[in-house]
Amino acid sequence: MNSADITTVKSILSQPQNIVIVPHRNPDGDAMGSCLGLSGFLKTKGHNVRVVSPNDYPKFLKWMPGNDEVINFERENPKAKEAIENASVIFTLDFNDFSRVGQMASALQEATADFIMIDHHQQPSDYAKVTYSDVTMSSTCEMVYNFIDFLGETNGIDADIATNLYTGIMTDTGSFKYRSTSSKTHRVVADLIDKGADNMAIHQEVFDTNSPSRLHLLGVALSNMVILPDYRTAYITLTQDELDQHDFKKGDTEGFVNYGLTLEGIVFAVIFIENREEGIIKISFRSVGDFSVNEFAREHFNGGGHNNAAGGRSETNMEETLSKFNTILKSYKDQLNP
Ligand code: 5GP
Ligand code: MN
Repeated sequence: MNSADITTVKSILSQPQNIVIVPHRNPDGDAMGSCLGLSGFLKTKGHNVRVVSPNDYPKFLKWMPGNDEVINFERENPKAKEAIENASVIFTLDFNDFSRVGQMASALQEATADFIMIDHHQQPSDYAKVTYSDVTMSSTCEMVYNFIDFLGETNGIDADIATNLYTGIMTDTGSFKYRSTSSKTHRVVADLIDKGADNMAIHQEVFDTNSPSRLHLLGVALSNMVILPDYRTAYITLTQDELDQHDFKKGDTEGFVNYGLTLEGIVFAVIFIENREEGIIKISFRSVGDFSVNEFAREHFNGGGHNNAAGGRSETNMEETLSKFNTILKSYKDQLNP
């Protein structure tokens, strides 16, 4: 954030505001952690703050401090709309285009509030009065920490705020191992631990609360994996029937895509997950190295994200989606074998 933006933010926050904080649809640990962490901080500064999520999120995030106050736009629509209409300031966190909030987009478009964006994805849209966008950042949670630092207020980070911010940094960096994890990230994390984030307890809440059916579903996913050594690619499929047979709950497939990258020599991993209700195949892309899955997802599957982690979708069935993917892959052979 430049100094003009910091001045603008300080001036906006110098008086009590009606603030709404919004994560992207299907929020992950970074989206919820940044929203709940920022919410906790702004409340201590005397603002009236609501977190409004476009839809539900996984159970492994529902222990987070402040979770009980989150308004679900899908489930509590009138309450959510009223909060957005009455807001004087709306923070949008961990996304940078209204298309990422699904049905909630029109409510944001009609809002009269000043928008503040904090986000680390590629190609930000231009809707905010203040845009704090940095694609080199590990996570939006690290940026919220910086945001609080720009205001000179890191002393105001309590244990609950620290816990939320730690959670998002941890999940978005794959527990501090992805390329975007910098020495600064580790310094921020160290300070969050000093301020009360319990690193072991947070890891357990997020990663060690599996159901047996989820692990069985992982078994199915791994046995469905197709490995294409010539393309240094591995992809997984899961059909709606397979999900149904394993009592699928939101979030159960989180992280499955990464297993492809644990194979020696594989640099591109994909998972295709059928969603019959939405009539789509939801796709997650991951890479190591210079192959940009953001560009791949943007160009071919109506999505986007980061260079090494992106999402997208296909409106055709699994068979046609896979056929399209395998065809497209042919033209990337050189890029995948630099
Ligand atoms: P995931 O594969 O875990 O859903 O998402 C990976 C990354 O890509 C996340 O940072 C997520 O915010 C982003 N992402 C996922 N789906 C989409 C999409 O449809 N469009 C865009 N622009 N980004 C996405
Ligand atoms: Mn993120």
